[in-house]
Amino acid sequence: MSKPLTVRRAAVLGAGVMGAQIAAHLVNAGIDTVLFDLPAKDGKPNAIVDKAIAGLAKLSPAPLARKDLAGEIVAANYDQHLDLLDGCDLVIEAIAERMDWKKALYDRVAGHIAPHAVLATNTSGLGIDELAKVLPDALRARYCGVHFFNPPRYMHLAELIPGSATSPEVLEGLEAFLVSALGKGVVYARDTPNFIGNRIGVFSMLSTMHHTREFGLGFDVADALTGPAIGRPKSATFRTADVVGLDTLAHVVKTMADTLPDDPWHRYFQTPDWLAALIDKGALGQKAGAGIYRKA
Ligand code: NAD
Repeated sequence: MSKPLTVRRAAVLGAGVMGAQIAAHLVNAGIDTVLFDLPAKDGKPNAIVDKAIAGLAKLSPAPLARKDLAGEIVAANYDQHLDLLDGCDLVIEAIAERMDWKKALYDRVAGHIAPHAVLATNTSGLGIDELAKVLPDALRARYCGVHFFNPPRYMHLAELIPGSATSPEVLEGLEAFLVSALGKGVVYARDTPNFIGNRIGVFSMLSTMHHTREFGLGFDVADALTGPAIGRPKSATFRTADVVGLDTLAHVVKTMADTLPDDPWHRYFQTPDWLAALIDKGALGQKAGAGIYRKA
């Protein structure tokens, strides 16, 4: 295996479902980590990230419990702490699954990413080359996708998605880091819509949702059939959607609908009306305290 990327200090952009957990994972591996999000609307500098960090400390088993390895975790926002990025060797972007928002953020942070540092996106399936278009050439060579699965501390797989400009040395160093420091098994995926895991997984979720409706089944019945009964105790369809976040799922579905018009299964690539209605109400799943299972 190649020499792992040396990561003494990392930054995670986005303190939501994935960003907060990826930060915890890095901290558990002994890496000092800066966790960024937008400043809170009430003027408090780090409210979103503070909440994320407080939440992580309560998780069981506590992600920060390995005192022998624990790095330091610091809360930051883009308005006040961008200079903290300068000292980071690895920056993982995990903000909402929107091409325009990710590009706008890259535009804002690119000038603060150290000349040697690697920038990786945790996108579920947006185009890596398309996202890279806003980056300066030198950073484009140090940019790629690293798709962690949810929950990232327990899911061993990570997809590594090179862009056409990503340097082979960066990929090899990152792969070795993911394996040796974070304990991941790495699969290379091509820069195609939703890569491998979500292209298969989200299609399977959507067709299950469609047939559940068609056969008049309850969510719990469909989950019993698509979960424990086939040896997947924790990954039943509707419960997984609540854990992922219904808005995030809808964004991923939209990527498939927009980018795969000729796919033979294209008619399944749409967010069901009942799910869109939950999103409109803010019932986004576990992160919102209400979703498919728990009503608002
Ligand atoms: P989330 O909704 O939980 O969190 C998104 C974060 O992005 C929030 O903290 C929000 O404040 C921030 N944000 C929103 N708009 C922003 C903007 N314009 N600029 C900067 N920050 C902004 O989302 P998530 O589930 O953590 O997903 C983050 C990324 O990880 C997405 O690309 C998603 O597709 C991917 N992903 C999600 C899962 C999952 O199961 N949820 C799994 C793998 C990958």
